[in-house]
Amino acid sequence: MRKILFLIIFTVVIVVFAFMAATRDWQAPAITMAQSEYVGAEMVVNVSDNQALDEACYTLDGQADARACTDMGGAYSGELIIDLSSLEDGPHEVCVTASDVNLFAANRSSQCRTYTLDTVPPRGAVESATRYMQRGSSAAVYVTTSEAETNLRVIAGRREFPFISNAAGTRHFAVFAHPHDVEMEDFKPIVEIIDRAGNTRRLPIGTVTKDRSFNQDTLNVPASFIEQKSLEMLNQEGSGKEAFLQMNRDLRAESRAEISAVTSAFEAGPPVWEGPFYRNAGAPKAQFADYRTYLLEGEVIDHQTHYGLDIAGLAQMPIKAANRGTVRYADYIGIYGNCVIIDHGGHVSTLYAHLSQIDVGQGEVVEKQQVIGRSGKSGMAGGDHLHYATYVDDVPVEPTAWFDPAWLQTRINDIYADFAAAE
Ligand SMILES: [Zn+2]
Repeated sequence: MRKILFLIIFTVVIVVFAFMAATRDWQAPAITMAQSEYVGAEMVVNVSDNQALDEACYTLDGQADARACTDMGGAYSGELIIDLSSLEDGPHEVCVTASDVNLFAANRSSQCRTYTLDTVPPRGAVESATRYMQRGSSAAVYVTTSEAETNLRVIAGRREFPFISNAAGTRHFAVFAHPHDVEMEDFKPIVEIIDRAGNTRRLPIGTVTKDRSFNQDTLNVPASFIEQKSLEMLNQEGSGKEAFLQMNRDLRAESRAEISAVTSAFEAGPPVWEGPFYRNAGAPKAQFADYRTYLLEGEVIDHQTHYGLDIAGLAQMPIKAANRGTVRYADYIGIYGNCVIIDHGGHVSTLYAHLSQIDVGQGEVVEKQQVIGRSGKSGMAGGDHLHYATYVDDVPVEPTAWFDPAWLQTRINDIYADFAAAE
């Protein structure tokens, strides 16, 4: 009897210990501190635990009286905000501890790192910029910065445009755009400079932009067009409004996303264009940013904006590169059909769509007016024509301005010359 009682007590004790061992958290919290050498006045440290966090604390330069803690309230993960604003710029040791919620004793972890505190915003100056531009068109800016390791971008009308920099990293050039769909009051281009510690400086560019209107156009969509193009672009039989919208909306959006990905993906070098951009011969059929209304048997079925210039000449006419550059894309792309994209440096590229034949390959360097293919009606094209577009990073811009030697010289090339001459 006593033996049995002993066995029962023994088993209960084992079970209780096993339960406690199983439910006890054996893992200490993880602390993730910034890997950078430089930090600004505020630092964020991420802490996490496999079960529940209790609190996270920090000390600066080993001074226990400067300890500050944040209650993590049993969460899996949280942020510890470290305020360094009371310290002088220079090297400082930051130590972080974190504890979890646990049976008996909490698990604790700690980590220390030395950072260089930098609270001084970077200095910079807009040395030259395009004075006047038009909505839908392009402009340029040349900027100098006091610190070499900075990130710069032009922020203009909710879009961002990257810079190219000199070897020392102190002079910078960017082409930017007033996107055609950004209202005048929303377009205030600035340069944002962020240093290695995350300090930010914003400089107004001061370019004056003028409003303009864009064309409106109505297109009657023949039923036979929808049937033909469904087979070509969707690889399936289709007819009527639904098939048309599948191409004109869904496929158009996908194709535009693919083009954006191409024109903003490559590491742009300095501009390599030589003189004004060449305009392929033929009659203009549609303009940049035309607002199109599509009719099927008298019914309005869609609206879209046209991002290029349509030029119709002879069928299957040779198509020439608008300027010197590197081919970044040479393949079929949804509504654009057979399509070539050329990078001209400075984040400016040109696109040639609906081709019947492509004569260049990706990565190939082409000269201005070199034949790159033949016109056609591949993709979303009813008749043989060239769809020609110009992009600044991934923003489509008015292409005709780039054909004009005086415009190109004063609006873009003069600014680039200031940047290049300073070397
Ligand atoms: Zn077009």
